Amino acid sequence: MCGVVGIYGHKEAANLAYLGLYALQHRGQESAGIVASDGERLRFVREMGHVGDIFTADRLAHLKGAAAIGHVRYSTAGDSSLKNAQPIAVDYSGGSVAVGHNGNLVNAIELRERLEAEGSIFQSTSDTEVIVHLIARSRETTLPERIADALRQVRGAYSLVFLSEDKLIAVRDPMGFRPMALGRIGNDAHIITSETCAFELVEATFVRNIEPGEMIVIDKDGLRSMRPFPEAPAHRCLFEWVYFARPDSQIDGRSVYRAREHMGKRLAVEHPVPADVVIAVPDSGVAAAIGYARESGIPYDQGLMRSHYVGRTFIEPSQQIRHFGVKLKLSPVHEVLRGQRVVVVDDSIVRGTTSRKIVSMIRGAGAREVHMRISSPPTVGPCRYGIDTPTKEELIASNHEVDDIRKFIEADSLGYLSLEGLYESVEGLARPALGGGPQGFCDACFSGKYPIAAEKPARSRQLRLLPA
Ligand code: AMP
Repeated sequence: MCGVVGIYGHKEAANLAYLGLYALQHRGQESAGIVASDGERLRFVREMGHVGDIFTADRLAHLKGAAAIGHVRYSTAGDSSLKNAQPIAVDYSGGSVAVGHNGNLVNAIELRERLEAEGSIFQSTSDTEVIVHLIARSRETTLPERIADALRQVRGAYSLVFLSEDKLIAVRDPMGFRPMALGRIGNDAHIITSETCAFELVEATFVRNIEPGEMIVIDKDGLRSMRPFPEAPAHRCLFEWVYFARPDSQIDGRSVYRAREHMGKRLAVEHPVPADVVIAVPDSGVAAAIGYARESGIPYDQGLMRSHYVGRTFIEPSQQIRHFGVKLKLSPVHEVLRGQRVVVVDDSIVRGTTSRKIVSMIRGAGAREVHMRISSPPTVGPCRYGIDTPTKEELIASNHEVDDIRKFIEADSLGYLSLEGLYESVEGLARPALGGGPQGFCDACFSGKYPIAAEKPARSRQLRLLPA
């Protein structure tokens, strides 16, 4: 769960990267960083915390140059510490290079063990550092060739931005798990971003999506596109549309908002119920709740208010904070709920603890009935490709039937969207048709079918050297 941005050809590159990261903050709230190049050297700022707090005017002024990359991070591999913050920047025999990574490598542990056995020294526990080592050791001569050589050895999900003294390079893995798009700022500058919502803030125009398996190199000679990897069936992450991406983004030509709205409409067809009001669990359930209300004819209202002054509670790495989470984040509007039969729409149930607290909160505000509707199928498998999900054992739907989950969350009824309904909502918007596998998507968290097997179970390694 991370976001990346790259800017090339603009004298305010670091400022634009900062704005881009601001728009991508929902993708990771643990740490953020920007590396800028003035054509001769790279300078970087990396800190724990939120984008708006880290990048003071002084720090941004330090990041000189017309090219920059940025990263927001939530750890899915490697622990939460400054050592693991990105972009990673290193000097190697060919010069300096920095990298920001969204995704998760499934063979990072084997590669790391091999590299360590051969004498490599690692500074972090993040899987991304493996890529840097492979680049430094490559026998290829140019940086794009070295990157391609390194990436041919890794398996898993990666949307990457690289910055050297004179080049911005972006790569999306052959299966295209994580999104990535290309835009233009004015006539001369380019922007690469995880999500198109960043274009709005920097006044960029959308050019196109970066295709699965594509490498884009931007330097003083312009922009070149390459296909350095063998072709593979595309497996775009469905969960980006369900929950992770911002609704004002388009991923591979499909509006996240329209997809969510359609999920809600289809949910109303699959799981109708007589009720007085449809409410959302804000913000992730809003578009689907509006869709449910439109299709069912039951009025939509705001029955839960979200405080925007706390992050997504689930994303906070500390278990203690999560216990307070729901109340910190959500509060019931008694006037909307009292005496009503309420349909409450959320995007997913993970452990079930949030849903249980929400149902009890709605009842506590006087609702007569509470009907929970989920705009995705039961989450039965953890993600191995970059979305933070707990272990299979902790996923309530991996070991409970829907009716047991309903009892646990104490709802009067519970309905999940079918996988077919989810595909209809995302693929049904197909313009243009996507290439790749049967449908071009990864649905492992809902189906348990993983497109790339993990060779060793993912484990995060504790560095023995810890700063005071
Ligand atoms: P839980 O209490 O574990 O069932 O949490 C479910 C809530 O977490 C839902 O409201 C989702 O919007 C949200 N959610 C689902 N997946 C994730 C994720 N990977 N990271 C953060 N929040 C999530």
